[in-house]
Amino acid sequence: MNDRIDLAVWSAAPLDPCYATLGAPYHQPVAPTPLSQPILLHHSATLARELGLDGAAMGSPELLATLVGNNPWPGYVPHASVYAGHQFGTFVPQLGDGRALMIAELRTQDGRHLELQLKGAGRTPYSRGADGRAVLRSSIREYLCSEAMHALGVPTTRCLSVAGAADPVFRETTETAAVVCRVAPSFVRFGHFEFFYHRGAHQYLASLADHVIDTHFQHLAGQPDRYAAWLGEVVERTARLMAQWQTLGFCHGVMNTDNFSILGLTIDYGPFGFLDHFNPHHICNHSDDAGRYAYSAQPEVGQWNCAQLLQATLPLLPGTPEQAVEIAQEIYARYAPVYSQAALRGWADKLGLRELHDGDADLLNSFLGVLHRGKSDFTRSFRHLARVRTDADTPAIGVREEIADLAAFDAWITDYRARLTAEQNTDDDARADGMNRVNPKYILRNHLAQAAIEQAQQGDTAELDRLAKLLARPFDEQPEMERYAAEPPEGQRHIEVSCSS
Ligand code: AMP
Ligand code: MG
Repeated sequence: MNDRIDLAVWSAAPLDPCYATLGAPYHQPVAPTPLSQPILLHHSATLARELGLDGAAMGSPELLATLVGNNPWPGYVPHASVYAGHQFGTFVPQLGDGRALMIAELRTQDGRHLELQLKGAGRTPYSRGADGRAVLRSSIREYLCSEAMHALGVPTTRCLSVAGAADPVFRETTETAAVVCRVAPSFVRFGHFEFFYHRGAHQYLASLADHVIDTHFQHLAGQPDRYAAWLGEVVERTARLMAQWQTLGFCHGVMNTDNFSILGLTIDYGPFGFLDHFNPHHICNHSDDAGRYAYSAQPEVGQWNCAQLLQATLPLLPGTPEQAVEIAQEIYARYAPVYSQAALRGWADKLGLRELHDGDADLLNSFLGVLHRGKSDFTRSFRHLARVRTDADTPAIGVREEIADLAAFDAWITDYRARLTAEQNTDDDARADGMNRVNPKYILRNHLAQAAIEQAQQGDTAELDRLAKLLARPFDEQPEMERYAAEPPEGQRHIEVSCSS
């Protein structure tokens, strides 16, 4: 490894080691495994700027070497952390960063703490016999989707870069290696706490919790009752995140507790997918036979995962064990109302409703029923709903084209117009503007990602670039990109996405 790197060339944000100072037993130093002749396939220019990396820095071979693990970030020792987790409901006592390495912690110019992690940079003590690598296909999907989710306004880990190399990686077939550099304020997961709790090493819970609080929930730092307050916020963030996933039709696919962020971020993009036609029972991960993580199950799974976190942090709560359980139950009880409120508000926004009235849930559900029965496209139908005029004589041009069950739809639209009129929400243009800011026109559909992947596998990143630019503005009309808003062509509707990545 070359450790003579000129930091000035990068002019990056300064180092801000916080997680690193926790040391053992939370993480271990690990040297990345180099990749041969890596190529930078894409980077997020906006995120690079936030990190103090300009175009010249992003074009430098030194930084690329660092972003794939061939060179260290100057002044920082990379490390892998240990965590556990409930995978598909079963507790696995030790998982950990099997192919992830934290390579830097930085302080941005506006004072935010951001951590950089490489995914796919080789084996770690937590690889459990696997190769520590990631393939190009899954790396491009993670890169595109995390940036797309950010643009959609969903809390998420982000991706600074995706780089590929010719090094072979063996999955169902032989593929090639890639490394993403993902960025988040913290990569601590529910599973980090579960690891120490379930092995009876409770003495390690408080330092980890205090690290999270001191770095990310500073308003609670040092308060005597901080743990309960902090856990309450985590539960509420998780509930609000689930509401955002539901209203965008985002399906995560692997909602194990090790894939749940202590900051309420979307993390670990694997076999995720956005709904095409609306089907509440949609399962995006074809290894999920029982549909544990089906679209409609997500809010409850989020709640179940919070229960696992609360179990694992019981030793932090005050009083006798019985009193601690009581406090945990009170915190747990906050999930349902926060979820319901956020979901109701989110769906009302999608319908263009300003107020919340009794009966709105029924109005929504009957619209979703029309979409479900007619296999209508979820994203397109909501987007086109903005074209409905409150004047009953003006036909709902655009949206009717999405609907199969027109009789049911026409009955629904009568109720919808009445509901809009009831809150004097009859300024159709203003309502449409608002709706177009919450109902995206462009989402990362599997077939779109697939086209970018297939090109990139041939060494052409034009489609990857086009898609990244498109998805950075998901709510804007981009007339020259109209075909990217279409439903998947017949034959590409059910691209199966597996856990293998
Ligand atoms: P995931 O399903 O991607 O969330 O991963 C579950 C666990 O398996 C995590 O501890 C990962 O670090 C680990 N893992 C997944 N793929 C690999 C791989 N190719 N090499 C090493 N560890 C892996
Ligand atoms: Mg994971």
